[in-house]
This record gives sequence, structure tokens and C-alpha cells, in this order.
Amino acid sequence: MVKSKSSSLKGLGAKYGLKPRKKFTAVHRLLKAKRRCVECGSTKFGRVAVGIWACKKCGFKIAGMAYDVKV
Ligand SMILES: [Zn+2]
Repeated sequence: MVKSKSSSLKGLGAKYGLKPRKKFTAVHRLLKAKRRCVECGSTKFGRVAVGIWACKKCGFKIAGMAYDVKV
């Protein structure tokens, strides 16, 4: 199996064909992207549930999109 370094398709393997895998990669990259907390500036900011984003450092919580924060 050929594995490229740029894609993060762990757990998906060669299933589902190319198109959904590409979509999954885009979403996954959005999800794992480093974000800064708008309150304290920490990078410990991430999604805790679908649509809910929180900072692990200061506890700041915000409602956002499912895969990205829209402020
Ligand atoms: Zn914070």
C-alpha cells in the first residue's frame, strides 16, 4: 500500500474509494489544525463535541461549526 506523508487517512484504509477519502482528508485536516484560543491565545483550543469548541487552558467555550470554528 502506498502511503503519502501529506494525507492523514488513518483508520480509513483503501475503503470507500478516492472521492470520500479526499473529503475525509480535508475535514480531518481542518479538525486537527492548530487553533488559537481567542481568550488566552493558547493553542490548546480544539473541538470537544460537534459544534462545540473549547480551550483546555482557560476553559473558554464557543459554539462553532461541526468541523471548523466560525467566529
Ligand atoms: Zn484559552
